[in-house]
Amino acid sequence: MRELQGAVAIVTGAFRGIGLATARQLAEAGATVALVNRDASRAPEALREIPEGQGRTFICDVTDAQCVADMVELVEAEMGPVSVLVNNAGVTRDKLLVRTTDDDWDLVMAVNLKAAFNLTKIVARGMIRRRAGSIINVSSVVGIMGNPGQSNYSAAKAGLIGLTKSAAKELAARGIRVNAVAPGFIDTQMTAELEGPAREALIAMIPMRELGNPEDVAPVIRFLAGPGARYITGQVIVVDGGMVM
Ligand code: NAD
Repeated sequence: MRELQGAVAIVTGAFRGIGLATARQLAEAGATVALVNRDASRAPEALREIPEGQGRTFICDVTDAQCVADMVELVEAEMGPVSVLVNNAGVTRDKLLVRTTDDDWDLVMAVNLKAAFNLTKIVARGMIRRRAGSIINVSSVVGIMGNPGQSNYSAAKAGLIGLTKSAAKELAARGIRVNAVAPGFIDTQMTAELEGPAREALIAMIPMRELGNPEDVAPVIRFLAGPGARYITGQVIVVDGGMVM
């Protein structure tokens, strides 16, 4: 089914992992997708995974407000009005709370939380005029349950849930839906350094006894973006093999 035929989507952090799987799913649903990432090196490989003519790459650090504003202007001028926004770019700087520096805190907040606020604000203006749009924020189960060594990241991901719900309440009457997905532990570069006993201990906490894949998360984002989720807003959909229930 090509339920997003004609839609234009922006996906941040889209050159690998969950962002790339999401960009591919949205394109397969018929959308043309702006794949946004800070670092250009993986742009050609990422684009090769998107159906011909349905993707364009944009190099932009989501913490750079001017670059983000210029990028949205370019996307709208060249691809058309944006109707789907996926705030997916994320980073971790894991340390025990007492060792977390101001820089560790500020960077994680800037990428995972402030960038989503900023991009939502910019994209929502056009969506409000057109009275249509779907925004999906990629949070995390640790924003719900906390995690030792991730006070900065958990706070940012919890903040993203608050942003999702407040924006959903503000924008619902304007025809815009705002939802979040909260992945559990997904096998990407972000979790690659978890090895040996730490990985085994983590798997033991997951009722389904395995890490998820980007392909387990992307279809949920595709669903939230599309008409099947017409009456769903302000929700956090957990995708975690049963860890949080
Ligand atoms: P990943 O590291 O493979 O992908 C993150 C992408 O974001 C990378 O391509 C990176 O270059 C990009 N990025 C980082 N900072 C950026 C910036 N300032 N501007 C633009 N792009 C930037 O990790 P992933 O696992 O695919 O993570 C995707 C999202 O899912 C993140 O928000 C992450 O916090 C969230 N998440 C991941 C997991 C997991 O277990 N992997 C679990 C819960 C939530």
